[in-house]
Amino acid sequence: RQAQYARLRDREPRTLDGQRIYLRMNAGLPIDVPHLVDSGADGIGLYRTELQFMISSNLPRLHQQIRTYQEIMDTADDKPVVFRTLDIGGDKVLPYIRHTHEPNPALGWRAIRIALDRPALLRTQMRALLRACAGRDLRMMIPFVTDVAELREARGYLNKELAHAKRHGYELPREVHMGAMIEVPSLLWQLDEILPEADFISVGSNDLFQFLFAADRGNANVAARFDPLSLPGLRVLRQIAESAERHKVPLTLCGEIAGRPIEAMALIGLGYRSISMSAASIGPVKAMVLELDAQKLESYVLEWLETGNQSIRARLRDFAEANNI
Ligand code: PEP
Ligand code: MG
Repeated sequence: RQAQYARLRDREPRTLDGQRIYLRMNAGLPIDVPHLVDSGADGIGLYRTELQFMISSNLPRLHQQIRTYQEIMDTADDKPVVFRTLDIGGDKVLPYIRHTHEPNPALGWRAIRIALDRPALLRTQMRALLRACAGRDLRMMIPFVTDVAELREARGYLNKELAHAKRHGYELPREVHMGAMIEVPSLLWQLDEILPEADFISVGSNDLFQFLFAADRGNANVAARFDPLSLPGLRVLRQIAESAERHKVPLTLCGEIAGRPIEAMALIGLGYRSISMSAASIGPVKAMVLELDAQKLESYVLEWLETGNQSIRARLRDFAEANNI
């Protein structure tokens, strides 16, 4: 099977009816980045910048961050890389940042909440990203946004850093894109407000479903109690895809479900054309894409959304079997 997937490496992921599906890779350390080449991924859809901070015994300095981001951009060559700004807190506590004990860390002081309370941290990271992407495209994504105002505030800091770079005569990136992760349910009711302010969005289904189904993503006792392909999960994912389409804002999903062929199939049926997963999943998901009639699948999935009353998982397995996928 591995050999079969390796043979698919240079095949463009296109469905039988000609839809281009962008299969991107999740990464977190520079050593992951060479997998971009051997997996044949369409760039990095999620680069978790916090990993460099987690393996370091002190706060990585500006020049260290620049070097890391430059190395990633060089390895990725001309493929797009989406850098997620620090997603610390929750279960990812840094020993050198003072953090009081929290009874519910997943709902606590984390990600953009820390960044906006400690703007020096965020601004240093933005400065490093701007410098590392000089002359290239910078794509930066803000995690754990709960309210549009947070994205606006982050953009304010980005503008300050752009002005700072200009003032000091640094070469700027060719383009700067700032996106938001959709992973806190409150954003589901602010899509029409946040989409016009975001250059792209990316669904963090790991956190989104944890909060939607009130099931701790790290607790094995509850992890199997809900199915992301049940009606509430499908409806939420569809609503996001429809809103992104309406506002003409590029959409990706970068949670674990993107890497499982049946779930990835459901996503394509719901209108997703860009999904990001671990490098090892690219081959199996691409094999599925190459056998898929996206139009036929989409009608099947949308009909199920109207009439179904349970998880679509079993029906998708039937669909796959009937269509030799
Ligand atoms: C997510 O929440 O789905 C996500 C991609 O981010 P992380 O797993 O790092 O929280
Ligand atoms: Mg998340």
